[in-house]
Amino acid sequence: NHALLWLRADLRSSDNTALNCAIGSGLPVIAIYISTPMQWYQHHISGRQVDLIERRLKVVKQQLNDINIPLLVLECDDFSTVPETIIQLCQQHKISAVYCNRQHGWNEKQRDIAVEQALITHNKYWHCSDDYCVVPPGQVVTLQQQMYKVFTPFRTAWLKQFLQHNYQPTTNSDKVMFSQHCLNLINDNLDDNASFKPFNYSKQDSLLWPVDEQAIQQRLQMFCETKAEYYQQQRDFPAIDGTSCLSPYLAIGALSARQCLAALIETQPQCVEINSHNGAFVWLSEVVWREFYNHLLDDCDRLSKHQPFQLYTHNIQWLENSDHVRAWQQGQTGYPIVDAAMRQLAATGWMHNRLRMISASFLVKDMLCDWRIGEQWFMQQLIDGELASNNGGWQWAASTGTDAQPYFRIFNPTTQSERFDADGEFIRQWIPELESVPDKYIHAPSLWSGFSRVDYPLPIVDHKQMRLLAIDSYKQAKIWH
Ligand code: FAD
Repeated sequence: NHALLWLRADLRSSDNTALNCAIGSGLPVIAIYISTPMQWYQHHISGRQVDLIERRLKVVKQQLNDINIPLLVLECDDFSTVPETIIQLCQQHKISAVYCNRQHGWNEKQRDIAVEQALITHNKYWHCSDDYCVVPPGQVVTLQQQMYKVFTPFRTAWLKQFLQHNYQPTTNSDKVMFSQHCLNLINDNLDDNASFKPFNYSKQDSLLWPVDEQAIQQRLQMFCETKAEYYQQQRDFPAIDGTSCLSPYLAIGALSARQCLAALIETQPQCVEINSHNGAFVWLSEVVWREFYNHLLDDCDRLSKHQPFQLYTHNIQWLENSDHVRAWQQGQTGYPIVDAAMRQLAATGWMHNRLRMISASFLVKDMLCDWRIGEQWFMQQLIDGELASNNGGWQWAASTGTDAQPYFRIFNPTTQSERFDADGEFIRQWIPELESVPDKYIHAPSLWSGFSRVDYPLPIVDHKQMRLLAIDSYKQAKIWH
């Protein structure tokens, strides 16, 4: 008999709850990963993230091999054929128990229900652990047992749970014993080779992000030791390397949120003092935002179904201007901070958080474009694309979400640019056409007398005018509701 470890968004062998449970079963373990190209396409997963997954899986295959667990990489077109694939595998390799970590999107949950039912029918054991968040969804609730709708009280309640339960990452010592235990038990007709068939998906290279364990752990350690302290002062300036850049790893589970917080607490123990508001506490809070959005996704199915959290916003009359959308996607809006951000996204698959807020707000409030168009574009581009945080971020910017920006408080892209990229360093990095523009005009180059010599578009919209139109559209939507 074997146990099956089914890897999904948890591509690591350290601090992986499902792996620990599979090992704990005492059975020799076989691991699988199932690529689902058509499902990825339907979920708009970026070619960069798929490339990152593929590269990371090779590392995980090696890590698992080192503890005598073979990893098979299979393909199903989409989630619908996953149950029968797993049943076949169970029969082929005499698998009696399947272990995995829970995912919180609606389609993933439906897939798991179908797999569980198929396994029960075939008399197999199914165990799904909570692992993607530090505190499991459903455990941070109000006195009325409801999910929090606002972040700050959620964070207070979350911290209380976190401190009470002492959520610690697991270490590898048990695994060494296990690997010796099952050294001779592994079925030797399984492919032990470190390579597997490349994923059948249109990929884009993700090489900016190393995938070996040491590089990832070092990045975390280095951030906690040298940058976490200054995070509060530096995190909003895209020209400064002040954030951790760990989101691609957290999104695919190459790193766990527990590992992040354990490293933070070890180097910055003061970070868990409630309301201490030091840099490290602010970083911890960002990890809690990730938890908040994942708990919400788990609680509220409509977030997985292209629906707004605030139902009245269904009535907003969006403008449909495909030329404007194309200009936004290509970084040709005539607003340098937005264009620099969108070009960074296209070139690297990553965008700084402040810029995600500015460019999302621009699409929704300055172009009055449906936020779902932006949400989809981000997902198709981002290396750290994650349904919960991307949807949460977009619904925040569009004022359609839980804790959203009030609809009448609208970012002015030019003043945001002046505040957060004062000398235009980030803008110049991504828009070489603006090299000759004097600093004074870098945020609004069309106002410069020499603009006609610059190969850069005029602003595609007038901020003041669009701001009023946006406020009016939200107001009308509220009245009709
Ligand atoms: P750090 O500042 O170092 O933060 C540490 C970690 O905390 C991040 O890696 C991330 O996991 C989490 N985090 C930080 N900020 C947020 C936040 N606002 N919401 C949720 N989690 C957060 N994040 C994603 O991981 N995937 C997405 O698809 C995504 N889409 C977004 C779309 C929009 C419109 C907005 C406004 C934000 C989005 N974010 C998303 C959140 C945030 O921008 C990124 O997590 C962050 O920029 C990643 O950089 P970092 O790793 O250096 O973050």
